[in-house]
Amino acid sequence: MKNNRDYDIIVIGGGLAGCSSTIQLAKQGYRVLLLEQQRYPVHKLCGEFLSVEVQDSFRQLGILGAVHQVGAHPITRTYLTTSSGASFQSELPGVALGLSRYQLDLILFQRAQTLGADCLDGTFVKSVTGNLEQGFLVNTSKENFRSRLVLGCHGKRSSLDLNRPFTQQYSPFVAFKAHYTGLELQGVIELHAFPGGYCGLSQIETGEINLCWIAHQRILKDKKAGFPEALWQNSVLAERLKSMQCVPKLQHRLSQISFTLKDKFERDICMVGDSAGMITPLCGDGMAMALRSAELVVPLVSSFLQDNLKEIDFKRQYTYAWDREFRKRMRLGRLLHLSFLNPNLASIGVNLCQSLPILGRLFIQATRGKIETITI
Ligand SMILES: Cc1cc2nc3c(=O)[nH]c(=O)nc-3n(C[C@H](O)[C@H](O)[C@H](O)COP(=O)(O)OP(=O)(O)OC[C@H]3O[C@@H](n4cnc5c(N)ncnc54)[C@H](O)[C@@H]3O)c2cc1C
Repeated sequence: MKNNRDYDIIVIGGGLAGCSSTIQLAKQGYRVLLLEQQRYPVHKLCGEFLSVEVQDSFRQLGILGAVHQVGAHPITRTYLTTSSGASFQSELPGVALGLSRYQLDLILFQRAQTLGADCLDGTFVKSVTGNLEQGFLVNTSKENFRSRLVLGCHGKRSSLDLNRPFTQQYSPFVAFKAHYTGLELQGVIELHAFPGGYCGLSQIETGEINLCWIAHQRILKDKKAGFPEALWQNSVLAERLKSMQCVPKLQHRLSQISFTLKDKFERDICMVGDSAGMITPLCGDGMAMALRSAELVVPLVSSFLQDNLKEIDFKRQYTYAWDREFRKRMRLGRLLHLSFLNPNLASIGVNLCQSLPILGRLFIQATRGKIETITI
């Protein structure tokens, strides 16, 4: 830890966006402090499906070897079903991975430590004051820190977001995640639509299945055998549920999940990852986007710190780069997500993909970034 507690950059949140930003900036020799409220390793709510394009980011961050060493599960196919019995199968454009956030976030956090960044887990950021002109003061559950710049990588919703417009809009979406034994998926990511929501099944490094669903909260009213009744209305999913046993103490729930566009700067704090905007889980690309948004911001942060970029240009260029890369994908993601919640639309969509497989592949491509690497 630096004695004067002064840093070039303080990064709030040790998820994908925060760790990736920290790793890249520490590699360039900047004094970086990474603050994470939870103690690592920790389980997090997520589908734990890493889309094909993350491999290139992992290689650049120097963690691809570690990810394979812990046994990330290779995934090469996708299988979609609906409650009306429609289904669609497709090859993925390369090898995706199933890996728990328990392992992934730890690998990233440790990599940031190895590169000399100060990384504090179990440290909750209470407030941030200051601006890009005069620098920032970050108040945490442990002590105060100062920096020239702050990156807000605190995820989809945090107490730090209290005054941001998206928190004023009510969102009816709830999500659940847990790990299960008793099922093998053999390299397939499954997505099963049910009335009001959809459920992803993805095998992870332990051989267990990560089950994660997102739905309108109204489905919570009726339950059957430990799951909302709506899930049982998809017969393929129902078969899976019957064969699986839950790993105890590993259940996560979340409500108020918002997919609205967010400002990229809030009181001069630069937002990266989900705190800048989250794509719907249907696309299975949120983690890749979080990593990519860190790749977009780091060169601009570096130029700003070296006084080669004025504050106003930093803000303008990051906002422009973010919009150009993600805005269309986010819109398409929201449209597909809403269609998938409606049994009739889900059925029409999946039937269309079944009779015109190229359409399904086009949708998969349109919701993700450029794939640099397609093999492991
Ligand atoms: C139901 C669901 C399923 C999903 N499934 C997938 C999937 O299968 N594949 C995929 O690619 N994406 C998926 N996503 C999206 C993906 O989880 C996110 O896009 C991704 O985690 C974003 O990374 P991030 O670094 O921005 O945020 P996060 O990974 O959420 O990290 C934010 C970090 O900030 C910390 N933090 C928050 N507030 C504070 C504070 N005040 N002080 C200190 N630390 C703080 C949090 O503890 C957290 O560790 C899913 C999302 C949902 C909701």
